[in-house]
Amino acid sequence: MDPLETARVRGDFPLLERTMGGSRLAYLDSGATAQKPTCVIDAEQDFLTRSNAAVHRGAHTLAVEATEAFEAARAAVARFVGADTEEVVWTKNATEALNLVAYGFANASAGLGGDEAARFRVGPGDTLVVTEMEHHANLVPWQQLAARTGARLRWLPLTDDGRLDLTDLETIVDDSTAVLAFTHVSNVLGTINEVDRLVARAREVGALTVLDACQSAAHLPLDLHALDVDFAAFSGHKMLGPTGIGALYGRKHLLDALPPVLTGGSMITTVTMEETRFLPAPQRFEAGTQPVAQIVGLGAAVEYLTEIGMDTVAMHEAAVGEALLSGVREIPGVRVLGPLDPTRRIGTVSFDVEGVHAHDVGQFLDSRGVAARVGHHCAQPLHRRYGITASTRASSAIYTDTADVEQFLAALSEVRAFFGAHA
Ligand code: PLP
Repeated sequence: MDPLETARVRGDFPLLERTMGGSRLAYLDSGATAQKPTCVIDAEQDFLTRSNAAVHRGAHTLAVEATEAFEAARAAVARFVGADTEEVVWTKNATEALNLVAYGFANASAGLGGDEAARFRVGPGDTLVVTEMEHHANLVPWQQLAARTGARLRWLPLTDDGRLDLTDLETIVDDSTAVLAFTHVSNVLGTINEVDRLVARAREVGALTVLDACQSAAHLPLDLHALDVDFAAFSGHKMLGPTGIGALYGRKHLLDALPPVLTGGSMITTVTMEETRFLPAPQRFEAGTQPVAQIVGLGAAVEYLTEIGMDTVAMHEAAVGEALLSGVREIPGVRVLGPLDPTRRIGTVSFDVEGVHAHDVGQFLDSRGVAARVGHHCAQPLHRRYGITASTRASSAIYTDTADVEQFLAALSEVRAFFGAHA
């Protein structure tokens, strides 16, 4: 993307016009949450001012309009991630989506769902495999499933340069493996994982795959059918959409068999005082009133990204990522986490500044108008693997420009001197 187009894109994001204590804002925390283009803000507002009504209920015009907008957004999101419309279940965020799968397994293991749910039953003798680079959202639910069922948790370790170490893939993922849950892209290291290889191994042993697509969905072209995963999760707020909305993708026949977690209204066919029959997916997972305005906003976000083109987005962010990576590497006393080959990562760069705590780094950057993330980024095991408790992360999006990178690098190059941490 040439600078002129980036300037045009930036014009779509009103928040980027803000200044921070007199400095230009360099927003480099899109990995935590992305800023929103005007079309998303407008879509939510238009829905609330013109079409707000309960969906899938009522025969009045507003209810029909609201239902159409709700389902059109589902279709748009499904197209965007390479799925069929009925394979997209609305959730609050990726965390909820991942929990929904893990709790579905737990419910099946407790006997719910009958024979249809048999393939989700796990117990002693089964293994659940994750990786050492997971966000806690794709680790803790599997730990909990193991604790509930007696299944064992295993994990794929990391190499020193921030890739998955697949040397022992064949022994870690074996005939006992029921689930292989892994992230597409690490939220800390930016590493893009080899989905093909992991899915191929899972298929060989009959394990189901769960992909955390939180850090890929807004940054890389995503085709879940082509990736051949069984389940996937992502969050709207990281994809230029609103907070409070995310999605679970699942192969239709699996979703139709997975026991639901939240039960109640809007997810049933018949209810008697003794028992209940559930709707097929996706409705069987959408109990209760849904965040319709946010869903409409997410629909607008994916249409916006589609219009720009995800190949263009990926190219732009690869260029930003390369500039961030090479710039950070040149600063003395700063250690980059993750692969040094820019083609193996997205535009996210985390690093450790020798002699300065990440929170101090973050505050100093903030004083220069740079918004970056500090802490463990919900990935404590990953940080422990690299001998640190926290890092600083600069993460990009479609609106990140050269001025953001330069402002950040200029500020970062002053950090150690400011804190008296000379080599
Ligand atoms: N997975 C990854 C890789 C993430 O980066 C995040 C958020 O940072 C999550 C899961 C959880 O997303 P949310 O908090 O929106 O549920």
